Order: sequence, then C-alpha cells, then structure tokens
Amino acid sequence: MTPISANLQAVLARIDAAARAAGRNAEDITLLAVSKTWPADCIRAAAAAGQFAFGENYVQEGCAKVDALTALNIEWHFIGPLQSNKTRPVAERFDWVHSIDRLKVAERLSQQRPLDKAPLNVCLQVNVSGEASKSGCSMEDAPALARAIANLPKLRLRGLMCIPEPVDDPAAQRRPFRQLRELAGVLNSAGLALDTLSMGMSHDLEAAIAEGATLVRVGTAIFGERAKA
Ligand SMILES: *Cc1c(COP(=O)(O)O)cnc(C)c1O
Repeated sequence: MTPISANLQAVLARIDAAARAAGRNAEDITLLAVSKTWPADCIRAAAAAGQFAFGENYVQEGCAKVDALTALNIEWHFIGPLQSNKTRPVAERFDWVHSIDRLKVAERLSQQRPLDKAPLNVCLQVNVSGEASKSGCSMEDAPALARAIANLPKLRLRGLMCIPEPVDDPAAQRRPFRQLRELAGVLNSAGLALDTLSMGMSHDLEAAIAEGATLVRVGTAIFGERAKA
C-alpha cells in the first residue's frame, strides 16, 4: 500500500466510526480529497486507490490539474475563494463549487456554464460564528441569497458550506456545524431542496459528521502536511 492509499483507508475508517457513533450510514457521507498544492501524481495515486471526488482551491492550479487528468474518472470540486473575474475556467471544468458567497459570482458561473454540460452543483458558503476566513455570507443574508441562487438556470443549489475556526474542544467544534445544519433546515422548510452539508476537515470531521455533514473536505490527513506558502 502506498502512504496515500493507507491514509485514505484511515480517513474512511474515521468516517465510518463517526457515522456509527452518530447512528448514521457511512454511505451517506462523501469524502472529498482536498489536493491543493499537491501535484497531479498524488491525485493519480489517490484515484488508483479508489478515491473519486477531489477538491481544489486555486483557479490556475486547479484548472491545470483538471486538464492534465481528463483520462481519469474524477469528480472535481472547487472549494477556494472565487473572484467574479475568474469564474469562466471554473464554470467550464468543475462539477461543483462550494465557495459561493455573492450573487454576482453565482450569476457569472450560471452564464458561463457550457450548455452541453449538466448544471453546476453549488453550495452557499456561510460565515457561521467563529469563522476562520473572511469569506462566506452572513447567516442573515443566507436565505435571500440561497433563493436567488436556486433560481439561476445553469446552477443547482445543493447545500451549505462552512469553514469554522480550528478549535480542539469537541463541543466547541460542533457548535458552528449545528448552526449550519439548522440553517439548512430552515431553508428547506421554506421550500428549497438542499441535500448537502459541506463541513468538516482533517481535524474536526467527527464533530461535523455528528452534526449531519454529508460531505467532509479532507486534505492533510490524506496527502500530509502542506508546505507553508
Ligand atoms: C485546505 C482546505 C480543506 C482541507 O483542510 P485539511 O485541514 O488539510 O484537511 C478543506 N476545506 C477547504 C475550504 C480548504 O481550503
């Protein structure tokens, strides 16, 4: 076994254990392998070990990898900050975008999505309490924004995403994930059909799964520590 395939097995075992502890089915939780900064060969190794969904953060780097790996059966997720003048190559290549926090970016992705491709799956990124990054819309703005995004023709609004501040206490880890789940419940009661909670990373995926994550985004635990930029 390569180190990457061993790491993948270990992460899948963590997901399985967390699902069991929460009385959930591990099949209802997708593992997204976050491959930012890692070369295409690392993605090849993970794909050879059975990994299907990969996440990238930077437009240029991510698009280069998509183009280099078209021979592989991979589902590509864009999860990094996205400026409205950089949307076209993402709309043309990716299957999902998790990091939408402004209507302008969503409108451009919808306009630029090629007509022969299925609608782009998207998540609204929400800045829940104690958020590490400055991206993400506010809890207050989320309902109106979600409704507007759901009406765009070439997008399919699948759910919500968050990146909470890294903390060690499991109860504190769960709080923002619970807020995101409750927000999704409110939006679904208001008529949306969200089926995705994109939350949980290497250090807090157990807490996210306990609060209902349907997709965990894991980089370090699969590929190792990233070099500091
Ligand atoms: C880098 C990144 C991850 C993965 O983080 P790890 O701690 O390496 O698992 C997940 N989500 C987003 C949005 C990221 O930028």
